[in-house]
Amino acid sequence: MSYFILNNTSLKRFHTFQLDVIAEIVILPTDKNALISALRDYSDKKTVLIGKGSNMIFSQSSYDANTVFIVTTMVDLIELSDNLIHVDAGVTMNQFAWFTCENSIDGYAFCEDIPGTLGGALMMNAGQWQYTIGQYVKWIEVFDYDTQSVRIIYPEDDFFGYRYSRLNEMNVCVLEVALSIQKGEYMDILDLMLQYRRERYVKQPRQFPNAGSVFKRPKDKEGNSLFTWQLFDACDLRGFQIGDAQVSVKHPGFIVNTGNAKVADVQLVIAECKKRVKEQFDVDLELEWRVI
Ligand SMILES: Cc1cc2nc3c(=O)[nH]c(=O)nc-3n(C[C@H](O)[C@H](O)[C@H](O)COP(=O)(O)OP(=O)(O)OC[C@H]3O[C@@H](n4cnc5c(N)ncnc54)[C@H](O)[C@@H]3O)c2cc1C
Repeated sequence: MSYFILNNTSLKRFHTFQLDVIAEIVILPTDKNALISALRDYSDKKTVLIGKGSNMIFSQSSYDANTVFIVTTMVDLIELSDNLIHVDAGVTMNQFAWFTCENSIDGYAFCEDIPGTLGGALMMNAGQWQYTIGQYVKWIEVFDYDTQSVRIIYPEDDFFGYRYSRLNEMNVCVLEVALSIQKGEYMDILDLMLQYRRERYVKQPRQFPNAGSVFKRPKDKEGNSLFTWQLFDACDLRGFQIGDAQVSVKHPGFIVNTGNAKVADVQLVIAECKKRVKEQFDVDLELEWRVI
């Protein structure tokens, strides 16, 4: 039941956009019980959970001791039991997908190349194409900040939506999740995972630090889905850059860190994207990223 405490450390290696933001307190719990202990010990502070930080961006260049960052990636047990897959919050989607492949479990190939943890994925209802993690969830074990206790949630039909889950309204930390098992063929699953990875590496700007799609898929006034990259191209935003924060030349749905981007650079690029799209198309872009 132990956790490490890092003081005055850069959050650069704890989020995929790699901003050099300084935090006075960063906690690294070594397992689920340590995570619960940390949550209880710091219950008088604002706590920010970080999985892989792959959907997260910071709004300040430093955080004092009133904000405590808790990194979950060492909370990472995964096992088969009761005909379900039990996965700790800090298991990465990649670890999880390979576990399912090795056990010939179908349906999770879409997780292999999503660079987050299961905890983060449940908060975001991460997915691609027609698949989202929420489709497979049987129950979720959480730490409830209000009652300071652990409880199980059995999600109802409307619990998950597009890049959304009701967990966000619940003031909880995800500890563990149980997911359904459907048998598949090892070779089929392997082929699919490698195919997804290849397609994504071809399309996405993986050579620069980034935090995935910046904005949720926008809709027009009639409710039709639009492509961010098409709007951005029409607004001449491809390659738009302030400091080292750049609308990706390869895929304008991403903002990338071409070197040593600053918090303010990223904020200015986001603001310019929103402004031009609003002016030209009367479309309000909504951030997919979580801004801390
Ligand atoms: C190159 C790239 C490609 C991507 N592709 C996709 C994609 O195809 N589909 C997709 O959906 N997303 C994609 N993403 C975004 C991201 O990977 C997912 O949203 C992922 O699920 C986030 O997980 P995380 O652990 O990194 O969450 P973080 O970014 O660490 O956190 C996200 C939010 O969840 C909270 N949180 C984290 N852990 C917990 C916990 N245990 N309990 C409660 N709250 C928690 C955080 O406080 C934060 O509010 C991509 C990102 C990148 C960089």
